[in-house]
Amino acid sequence: MSSPVWHPFTQHALTPEFPVVSRGEGVWLETDKGRLLDAISSWWVITHGHRHPRIVAAIKAQADQLDQAIFANLTHQPAEDVARGLIEIAPRGLSHVFYSDSGSTSVEVALKMALGFWNNQIKPRTRIIALEHAYHGDTVGTMSAGARGVFTTPYAPLLFDVVRLPFPHAGREQETLDMLKVAARDAAALIVEPLILGAGGMLMYPPEVLRALAIICRRNSTLFISDEVMTGFGRTGTLFACKQAGVSPDILCLAKGLTGGSLPLAATLCTPEIFEAHYSQDRSRTFFHSSSFTANPIACAAARANLEIWRDEPVMERITALGAMQEERLERFRGDPRFSNVRRQGTIAALDLTVADPGYLAGIGPKLSAFFLDRGILLRPLGNTIYVMPPYGITAAELDLVYDAIAAAGAKFT
Ligand SMILES: *Cc1c(COP(=O)(O)O)cnc(C)c1O
Repeated sequence: MSSPVWHPFTQHALTPEFPVVSRGEGVWLETDKGRLLDAISSWWVITHGHRHPRIVAAIKAQADQLDQAIFANLTHQPAEDVARGLIEIAPRGLSHVFYSDSGSTSVEVALKMALGFWNNQIKPRTRIIALEHAYHGDTVGTMSAGARGVFTTPYAPLLFDVVRLPFPHAGREQETLDMLKVAARDAAALIVEPLILGAGGMLMYPPEVLRALAIICRRNSTLFISDEVMTGFGRTGTLFACKQAGVSPDILCLAKGLTGGSLPLAATLCTPEIFEAHYSQDRSRTFFHSSSFTANPIACAAARANLEIWRDEPVMERITALGAMQEERLERFRGDPRFSNVRRQGTIAALDLTVADPGYLAGIGPKLSAFFLDRGILLRPLGNTIYVMPPYGITAAELDLVYDAIAAAGAKFT
């Protein structure tokens, strides 16, 4: 019997079967078809490696104490500890932590916080500004902020309009900044993925541009929302991408790496001004958002263990070492005509395969994925953009396996 499971972002007509994964350890996933090297951190969530012992132990211990509790009427220690821990390490100026369950919901919460803030001002603002090629999630609100294309066409009638800034391509950054200067005058918020746009194709821009965007927002009282769902927890070489640019956002979205990638949990951090705009004897000013599993205690315990790992282990050293290892291995592809745009931001490396039709629907991405899967490497190119985003604990020899497979793909597909 064929499986009743409907997989995400999957064209089932073209993907007849899936390896069954049964175990994870470090960078490896064991499946019924053999071992896979997880070079994309299982969709960008795994930071330290699969099943870090401290996170596993924390999950087990918490499951023995409290599984789930309503978070509107009650609080619990894991959630309190994680919130305090996050405020300590987050960019300066953030004072409150709102929990949810996924990156998409953390962004929905951010957008609602921004609108809620402005709704309680004398001159309300409602418009959102976002970047070309942005990705902020797959719910209706986050799709609205994200780039429009084949992924959103059927849902277009439901999406709200945003002001779209051109991506700050090298040499054309001023265009983006000039457009923001006009748009920010009466906008509620700008939302960005700091330093690197992930799903849009691993497009990178420098900290100076991020800083310039934030400064324009500040001058115009436009809220600055940093979607660090992917970049948070070290991906770009610093704990948060914003820190590299000396930027303090008004709202910060975190998810993927928050639990080390072990369990779903998200957090939206905000400034005292945003919290206080909702703080009132008037119940109509309440922040009306919740989900059943807000601040699930087991997920919070995993996040607390993750924060302890960041405190106690040389995670930043591993990140710096991984960045250097990635850079060394990218070197052989620079100047190779079969590849272009060889680039890196912290632990994330990316390069574009030279093909006649790089469009998403041209299907080079799935062909490449299948090619890598055959070689025991889990990679999931975005069209012709191959990227390597492994867990931080990957060894040099393991990373070589990934890059040898990429070189082989270059030989086969160009
Ligand atoms: C993955 C991602 C999201 C959505 O997170 P989910 O947990 O998949 O809902 C939002 N923003 C960015 C930048 C992401 O990379």
